[in-house]
Amino acid sequence: MKSNISATVGSRSKSSNKEETSNLKSSKMKHKIEWTEKTWNPSAGCTKVSSGCKNCYAETMATRLQAMGVEGYENGFEFNTVPSRLNEPLRRKKPTVYFVNSMSDTFHEDMPREYLDEIFNVIEQTPQHTYQILTKRANRMYDYLSQRTIPRNVWLGVTVDNRKEGLPRIDKLRNLQASVLFLSVEPLLEDLGEINLAGIHLAIVGGESGHKARPMEKDWVLNIKQQCETDGIAFFFKQWGTWGEDGIKRSKKLNGKELDGKVWQQYPEIIEQQFAVK
Ligand code: SF4
Repeated sequence: MKSNISATVGSRSKSSNKEETSNLKSSKMKHKIEWTEKTWNPSAGCTKVSSGCKNCYAETMATRLQAMGVEGYENGFEFNTVPSRLNEPLRRKKPTVYFVNSMSDTFHEDMPREYLDEIFNVIEQTPQHTYQILTKRANRMYDYLSQRTIPRNVWLGVTVDNRKEGLPRIDKLRNLQASVLFLSVEPLLEDLGEINLAGIHLAIVGGESGHKARPMEKDWVLNIKQQCETDGIAFFFKQWGTWGEDGIKRSKKLNGKELDGKVWQQYPEIIEQQFAVK
């Protein structure tokens, strides 16, 4: 599962203003939020499951890593577990925010249940770390996690790339008792219409990057932002990607991350508290 939310966010943009921060539940709290500090890949490889997978970054990377002889990519993008990486977080004392399986999907259908148990055992043994788990396999995540206690240091998210495949994932996610439930609305491929955001803490929205990127329309983004505002959900606009706010194709750097002239990087109170500077 490529982390589309991997950008490290160390501080709010200087363009933050009253209107932006007024929606934050604890906007005066001092904090140092690091979205993702490290990736932890106890598995590698994946299989495409929805339209958001079409230009999968992890697949492209896997080809390169195979050519370099990196463990886990001997068969290219074919899913496999990588036990030699399983205990990496156990060796790190410094509290760290880990994105789990940036090159795979933790709840891939070929992931052995026993290996999932081992992953969660490591998570439980390292309460000093925070683990972000994002999946497109919401059904399997639900089946597995609804039968066990979810550690406090786990944030769970699902990708919402379109209506048909993405929206039903939210219904699975909201029924899991994790400390943070987030949506990765990336790449946003169509207008999502009405979204049931009940129980969700954070929605991260972004467009696709790369020369084959599909366009994201501004109205689609504004629709999500408006629903987040109405429902009191944190809204984080990550980037336009290859297609800009004006509908023109150019580099993602030039297209930037402003929406109507502002940077939107809100966090739910629970995350702000976690990263509060004491
Ligand atoms: S689920 Fe994620 S890692 Fe797997 S193919 Fe789709 S985009 Fe790639």
